[in-house]
Amino acid sequence: MSETVECTVIGAGVVGLAVARALAMQGRETILIEAENAIGTGTSSRNSEVIHAGIYYPKGSLKARFCVEGRKRLYRYCAERGIEARNCGKLIVATDPSQVATLSGIIDKARANGVPDLVLKTRAEALAMEPNLECVAAVHSPSTGVVDSHGFMLGLQGDFEAAGGMLAFESPLSHAVCGGDGIRLMVGGAEPMEIRSRVVINSAGLHAQALARRFEGLPQEGVPPTYYCKGNYYSLAGKSPFTRLIYPVPEAAGLGVHLTIDLGDQARFGPDVEWVTAIDYSVDPDRSEHFYAEIRKYWPALADGALQPGYCGIRPKIQAPHEPARDFVIHGPQSHGVKGLVNLYGIESPGLTSALAIATHVCELIGEPPTC
Ligand SMILES: Cc1cc2nc3c(=O)[nH]c(=O)nc-3n(C[C@H](O)[C@H](O)[C@H](O)COP(=O)(O)OP(=O)(O)OC[C@H]3O[C@@H](n4cnc5c(N)ncnc54)[C@H](O)[C@@H]3O)c2cc1C
Repeated sequence: MSETVECTVIGAGVVGLAVARALAMQGRETILIEAENAIGTGTSSRNSEVIHAGIYYPKGSLKARFCVEGRKRLYRYCAERGIEARNCGKLIVATDPSQVATLSGIIDKARANGVPDLVLKTRAEALAMEPNLECVAAVHSPSTGVVDSHGFMLGLQGDFEAAGGMLAFESPLSHAVCGGDGIRLMVGGAEPMEIRSRVVINSAGLHAQALARRFEGLPQEGVPPTYYCKGNYYSLAGKSPFTRLIYPVPEAAGLGVHLTIDLGDQARFGPDVEWVTAIDYSVDPDRSEHFYAEIRKYWPALADGALQPGYCGIRPKIQAPHEPARDFVIHGPQSHGVKGLVNLYGIESPGLTSALAIATHVCELIGEPPTC
């Protein structure tokens, strides 16, 4: 079977859904193809569901810009649609006096990113907010929150379909040929087809680079390397002992073993940092020792045996372990010279928070929709 469609988006994670929605709502004929049989089965359902404020990222980076803009739009979107989101706030805690200077640096960085509401708290002030906490000082981020990520994705899917978008499950893109009049996409699955599209958005998450390498005609030197960094979670039986999210001072490859609270008031801890070479979503129960040690730095009352292995997600990294953190990489026609093609690489945290802002950026990269 062969189809011609104006826009094709590859991957129905939160970012692909947001991009497909934005394209369809511009009046563009859009198909969203997904390898699996449901939306959001990849990284988008394997994260902390935190609405990040936009604190940690270098000033002017895509992560900083999209996180701040995406966070405001995400709260508004959830409020308008009745999607559960809770603006519970978070505390970033110093558990050693040597970390206090880092807290001040975090406040300055946040201010430079347009997040002016962080406040330094003394130990006594932090404990008044969270009596179960132990720390030497903390930073309060009032605009951080949590969201029902699946509800958010269902909202995006609903908008996309209401705007005329088509969603095709079990439709893995195998390879593509760029050049001539549009891009030819070879889709496998039970009903293989060829799609010819003027606009193609590669939002395949962990597989984005591998897929880009199968685009004939795309200069390969701009495709970044792929690294996988697993983040494991452990859950706590019973209600959360905290009302706010609790984060340690950040680590090199992640934000440290933090406590997040889901919308049912269940606490979960994680993600930790485990560099891996293959996608494997099992959680090793032997990692619990590290979790107990890290959590007890800010919650000494954590009882032995209270943690259970939970789930894990895999960060789509584009830098090797020990290399400095990289920004999102979004390559449009201006970067690689292929008309109509946008590749999204390294969309790790804060990709969930940033999704609506990323979608707007992608639409800008491919230019105005045709007027007729
Ligand atoms: C441990 C962890 C914690 C995180 N916590 C947060 C957080 O609290 N807040 C936050 O803002 N962000 C967080 N993030 C980041 C956020 O989860 C991701 O940025 C976001 O989910 C990425 O969405 P995506 O659509 O790019 O990728 P994905 O959700 O992985 O979607 C990609 C989709 O592409 C499909 N696909 C792949 N190959 C093909 C193909 N050939 N053909 C068709 N379809 C294909 C896949 O099946 C998948 O459905 C976290 C990430 C991790 C790993």
